Amino acid sequence: MKTKHHQNLFGFMHESFKLMKKRPIIFILILIALPTIYLIVYATGGIKYVYSHTMYITIVLAGIYYGLFFGGLTGLLAGILLGPLMPIDTLTGEMQEPFNWIYRLIMFILIGSIIGYASDKLRKDTKRIEVLMSSNQETKVPNTNYLKKMSETFTSNTYTIITILINNHHNIIDLLGISLYHELIYQLYVDLQSNCKDGVIITQADSNKLWLVVPKEDLDAEINHLMQLLNKPRQIRQIPLYIDFSVGAVLCYEVGLIKNFKVFELSDTAARHAQVQNLPYFFGDQDKQRKKGEYDLLASFKNALNNGEIYLVYQPKIDLSTMKPYGLEALIRWNHPEKKMIPPDVFIPLVEETKLIHILTDWVLTESLIKEKELIHLGLHIPISINISGKNLYDPQFESRTMSIIKDLAVPVEYIEFELTESTLMVNPQDSKNILQDFANLGIHISLDDYGSGYSSLSYITQFPIRTIKIDRHFMKDMSTNPEMHEIVKSTIALFKTLNYKVVAEGVETMDVVELLKDFECDYAQGYFFAKPMESQKITEWLKNVLNK
Ligand code: C2E
Ligand code: CA
Ligand code: CA
Repeated sequence: MKTKHHQNLFGFMHESFKLMKKRPIIFILILIALPTIYLIVYATGGIKYVYSHTMYITIVLAGIYYGLFFGGLTGLLAGILLGPLMPIDTLTGEMQEPFNWIYRLIMFILIGSIIGYASDKLRKDTKRIEVLMSSNQETKVPNTNYLKKMSETFTSNTYTIITILINNHHNIIDLLGISLYHELIYQLYVDLQSNCKDGVIITQADSNKLWLVVPKEDLDAEINHLMQLLNKPRQIRQIPLYIDFSVGAVLCYEVGLIKNFKVFELSDTAARHAQVQNLPYFFGDQDKQRKKGEYDLLASFKNALNNGEIYLVYQPKIDLSTMKPYGLEALIRWNHPEKKMIPPDVFIPLVEETKLIHILTDWVLTESLIKEKELIHLGLHIPISINISGKNLYDPQFESRTMSIIKDLAVPVEYIEFELTESTLMVNPQDSKNILQDFANLGIHISLDDYGSGYSSLSYITQFPIRTIKIDRHFMKDMSTNPEMHEIVKSTIALFKTLNYKVVAEGVETMDVVELLKDFECDYAQGYFFAKPMESQKITEWLKNVLNK
């Protein structure tokens, strides 16, 4: 298209107008100069004096700045102004011989056109050199010069930087020869260019390396899309090819790092890591790598709640005076199809960072209460406790939703217990106090979970409507061997009992500890010594067994 413009008059005209738009000031100067010079020549006595030569400046300027068309046109106008419109001598009014002014007119047009043509050609050649300089000679794919030039126009702040390595390029070259390999690179470039979003810049950084700059930060989406493109079967001149790619990607929040190519060192390293580790791709930023895993997990969480991957297990709590179960704790489990069992300690903190924690707690409450109804129906009258996250207390609708779940399932409130950790209460004390007070007024039992794992002051705890303290399991671990721990547990239990709290010891694993707890007059205990958390059906059987004995 472009070359066609340059071949005919229309092409030169088009070029001239384009240049005029770019440099309008010179154009205005030329427009003013033409009549001004005419007037000067006229006022100084006419064409027979030397002033008419000033006109060359205008014609030359027009040619240089606006090319052949406008150079020639200015020559024509100048030739007419200083031709039939200009007397030889203004005093006598004697006009010029037509041969004289026609000859001058032709000279003017020629000079304007020749200079214009020369400047057009120079511009074209400069452009061609620029294009040559900014693309790879063999493959015609833009190179890093092009990238550098384009980076001047970058406006966004975040970019995804991608390095694509062709690992088996030596084999391909051996097989096809170098020129077909170059064709392959070009084909790949064209394919990526036409399938990637607007604004993506693709450059060839090395014989087997491409760099992509994507003005977006959705790393996962970009990589998925790219991997699909790269994994497409390719062939060159009907020869199907196997191309082994390694892809590295990083996020870039600073355009300066693209301009000085620093960020590409990181994406190159990521690609080499993928190469060495035999991975299809690798995210350079470790943090992002972790986040991707987290993101995937969260993305599948909601679905997992409904498809049975997530379920509850129930662990009994034992009354130490009767050695019979007096309550159950509902604990969540996630059996992920790929990751297998994901411990709650891993996924709950992630879920807590999002609003999904409200869905989780609602779900646990609903499932637990359905289970509780079933147990009551079977004559197994034993309360159930569920764990409430601190984040739940931030949700203004938490209280009303919880109340309505309880009401809908019509489970007597004395069978419901909430467990909250001390840290939960410390973050938002006033609101927590109010909400818990409402629950307590309704008759729901509130327990303080993991006591001793944080820093709670006693006077602080007493401000909340808490009735039971669960002593954290790490105290039980070496209680029988460590005399200090022994004393701590003993005095803690004694203290809370004087304050009229019920005390539960968590994580009880041995008979020794049970004996000690009994000595300390601890009320309840929970732990593997008595029973591990059990699935729904198993806990029913277990309870039937021990309660009906
Ligand atoms: P937690 O509330 O302190 O729950 C008790 C944890 O101790 C459970 O771990 C339980 O399996 C474990 N455990 C019970 N007996 C023993 C024992 O004798 N020895 C030892 N070493 N451990 C014992 P799990 O089920 O892995 O849960 C871990 C934590 O995840 C829970 O600690 C709780 O903070 C949280 N969690 C579990 N389910 C839920 C839930 O439904 N909602 C919320 N918000 N958090 C939950
Ligand atoms: Ca708990
Ligand atoms: Ca606990």
